[in-house]
Amino acid sequence: MNAVREESGERKWFVMYDLIVAGGKLITAEETFSSDLAIQGGRICAVGTDLQGKETIRADGLYVLPGAVDPHVHLQMPIGETASSDTWKTGTIAAACGGTTTVIDFVEPEPGESMLQALSARRAEAEGQTLIDYALHMTITEAMMEKLDEIPSVLDAGVPSFKLYTTYPGMKLNDYQMLDAMQAVGKIGGIVLVHSENDAITRFHTEALLREGRFGPDAHPLSRPALAEEEAVYRVLKLAQTADASVYIVHISTAGGSAALAQAAAAGQSAWGETCPQYLLLTEEKYQGGFEAAKYVCAPPLRAAAHQAALWRSLSRGELHTIGTDHCPFYFNGQKDLGKDNFTRIPGGLPGIQSRLALLHTFGVLEGHISLNQWVALCSTRPAQIFGLYPQKGALQPGSDADIVLFDPNLKKTLTHSSLSENVDYSPYEGFKLSGMPVQVYAHGMKVASDGRYTGANHTGSFIRGTV
Ligand SMILES: [Zn+2]
Repeated sequence: MNAVREESGERKWFVMYDLIVAGGKLITAEETFSSDLAIQGGRICAVGTDLQGKETIRADGLYVLPGAVDPHVHLQMPIGETASSDTWKTGTIAAACGGTTTVIDFVEPEPGESMLQALSARRAEAEGQTLIDYALHMTITEAMMEKLDEIPSVLDAGVPSFKLYTTYPGMKLNDYQMLDAMQAVGKIGGIVLVHSENDAITRFHTEALLREGRFGPDAHPLSRPALAEEEAVYRVLKLAQTADASVYIVHISTAGGSAALAQAAAAGQSAWGETCPQYLLLTEEKYQGGFEAAKYVCAPPLRAAAHQAALWRSLSRGELHTIGTDHCPFYFNGQKDLGKDNFTRIPGGLPGIQSRLALLHTFGVLEGHISLNQWVALCSTRPAQIFGLYPQKGALQPGSDADIVLFDPNLKKTLTHSSLSENVDYSPYEGFKLSGMPVQVYAHGMKVASDGRYTGANHTGSFIRGTV
């Protein structure tokens, strides 16, 4: 990759890279500065000026960001009699079109299966199907409690993060089981992710609502009130402290949940929190208006505006650390309508893998809740750091994978379902007016999306090992 050129009669050696991204404004979690970037062999090789390449992309007037990392997605995930509608292929194409170049999904072992068997089966499903790189979290269900001695080998296989549930039959652990699982994960230096809603409170309300004949989706938010989350987040933090394990609370939707986390972190606990665009941008009014409301059924449910305002404040103060989408799409026609006679049978989950960066730029950065650097930290750098993928992911440093987003802060678009590549028949953000869009997305130095569309690039992502 070396070449020579004449300069005022002198011959000078210089490095000739594959690709230069020139003239853009680099935005990282720490700083904003104008610089060029050089890419060689799928990696970032140099950050600076006067770099020479075989090909140059001009990024004048654009932001240059590390590819976004979505710490929480569910692609082709079986739920009851159906499965989330985005496959590894369609879901990762949609992610890339929106500027996300790494997703972290889940392994859910079947009863009888070992964690390692389930991990290799999940990897086999994704193999050759993903446009971008992916990592995995391991789920510890009740049936896996006898297999906690597998945890060190799961870490050796590249999975340092373990998901626990406080609710859902078959998934939920009681407090004692949770302590056991947390201790086993803590011992290897791993991290537990916890879905935190009080199971008894949600059952108590659900059964009462059904007895009263409340079968419509308007009953859904009443069945899972804010205090069910607030109680569980507080308890889970205390359990993690007892077991000496790092903990990451997924999809925090309430003021109280976020406050409990902030208090634990301020007291020195290794505790992290995620929220999602739906809890920042949509409110519980969506559950009114007939069965159309099934489009918004997810757990925890959308909340009142006061919670939303509190979550924005927590983000701006750095008390929430990541934004994941919890992308779990189901067709309104054909899947969500499984619950048309009973809201408890509506498959729970919202699509959103493609819109996170643009939504958070428009409603987070431009509305003054978070800085540009916080935006990059929340959507890319922090998830990569927390789950052991940094600085391969989440950074614009020499040695990092050349996963790069060119983002036009001035491009205005109205979000419509038809403009998205997600494999589902609606978007919860239909009609949202966006300011700023990813215009070019590179994975390992290869252009995979352009102007929000898949370029058809013949690129496949790989499994990325997380470390502790
Ligand atoms: Zn989830």
